[in-house]
Amino acid sequence: MEIKDMTAVGLSAGIRSGETSVREALDCVLKSISENEDRIHAYVTLEEPEKLYKEAEIIQKKIDDGSLKGPLSGVPIAVKDNMCLAGMPTTCSSKILENFHSTYTAEAVRRLKDAGVLILGKTNMDEFAMGSTTETSAFGPTRNPRNPDHVPGGSSGGSAAAVAAGECFGALGSDTGGSIREPASFCGVTGLKPTYGTVSRYGLVAYGSSLDQIGPLARDVTDCAAILSVISGHDPKDSTSLERKDTDFLSCLNEGIRGMKIGIPKAYFGAGLDQEVGDAVLKAASEMKSLGAEVSEFDLDYTDYAVPCYYTIADAEASSNLERFDGIKYGYRAKDYEGLHDMYKKTRSQGFGPEVRRRIMLGSFILSSGYYDAYYLKALRVKALIRKAFDKAFSGFDLILGPAAPNTAPLLGTSLSDPLKMYLGDIYTVPANLAGLPGIVLPCGTDAKGLPVGVQLMADCFSENKLLRAAYAYEESQKAAGRKCSGCRE
Ligand code: GLN
Repeated sequence: MEIKDMTAVGLSAGIRSGETSVREALDCVLKSISENEDRIHAYVTLEEPEKLYKEAEIIQKKIDDGSLKGPLSGVPIAVKDNMCLAGMPTTCSSKILENFHSTYTAEAVRRLKDAGVLILGKTNMDEFAMGSTTETSAFGPTRNPRNPDHVPGGSSGGSAAAVAAGECFGALGSDTGGSIREPASFCGVTGLKPTYGTVSRYGLVAYGSSLDQIGPLARDVTDCAAILSVISGHDPKDSTSLERKDTDFLSCLNEGIRGMKIGIPKAYFGAGLDQEVGDAVLKAASEMKSLGAEVSEFDLDYTDYAVPCYYTIADAEASSNLERFDGIKYGYRAKDYEGLHDMYKKTRSQGFGPEVRRRIMLGSFILSSGYYDAYYLKALRVKALIRKAFDKAFSGFDLILGPAAPNTAPLLGTSLSDPLKMYLGDIYTVPANLAGLPGIVLPCGTDAKGLPVGVQLMADCFSENKLLRAAYAYEESQKAAGRKCSGCRE
């Protein structure tokens, strides 16, 4: 097999057995970047090739002397640009952080580096992870490698596009309300949002702190499991980080899907869902049934409230988290101003884009005295009810299956003019964040235009193993049937 067609785990095995080398893997990925990047714009910052080759040599030596043995050693991987990496800018695709260099590295990225991963650079995203298309980036949009007239999804659109275009062998994204799963669906790759608290948020620039989780975007389910195994685990630097012992996500993959109970929420297949997407997702469900799963429909309560509840909480937290970008502590400062207040005002008006400003204003309103109880506290109560609805569902089901988005990737330039419509597109992904649940999205077909459709599986907290087992069984069945999977790039 050619290097460009290998999965991350396959590539690392090839490097460790001496069949190929870290240098060859890097050659391959840099070639793909030079062929595709002008058109796709997946990256905001790329590490200099000389530095990468030097690092590749160091990693190769450690592999050769046996000090690096892990399933990702030697693999070139990309990181979303809201995760700090010492020695490289962290921009969050915002003008306000354009020249920001952190002095430390995010825990998840550090763990990857310790596992012998070669970090290629930082990927483009919606500004401060606010958006579903990667078009709110201050540095211009990313295009979908499956069809460059379309968006890659967002906010981790750069990471998903880099994986789909072969500009890396895997990537980290972050998911506050679907930002790993929706771009995975649009780009035809596999993406996983872990249980809240599984991956340290240390060094991740906060958007909605109670919802944010870092997770993998990868070529297949095995690669997702491998990346997740490396980045998860307790971190005393993040007070919401959990002590989990079950972070070997690779060994469960072969345990199969037989006997698993899969529930399909009726409300996920109602008005607003594109017919072709619905058909592809239901076909995946029936294939899981033929693999031995028990599949049935059920009523998931409070589905209609998830989007308003999410945007109330996410915007409130964002307005508070983004207070620190004031022209003094970090990044951009307006040139001409009269006095401190004028400096704050001009810096923030010029430094943030329109979508971020809208959310800061909405969030500040939601948190203001007199409205706090009416909006923020009410949203927290709704969040608790949504969690309860999932508890009820998981008392009868192992997994919940649905789409990742109501449609396939929209055309570039068609989404931002109607933000409310864009927000409603998050209907299938935000519930997992509100309830803290893990969710995986993997390819299950294409629409008539050839754009990918993803199927989403959600599980109860701490049940990533179930998600991965089921997803792996389905993926294997697709491979056996000769259908394209995320590992098979066009
Ligand atoms: N589209 C959602 C939003 O704009 C989700 C973003 C995310 O998960 N970072 O808030």
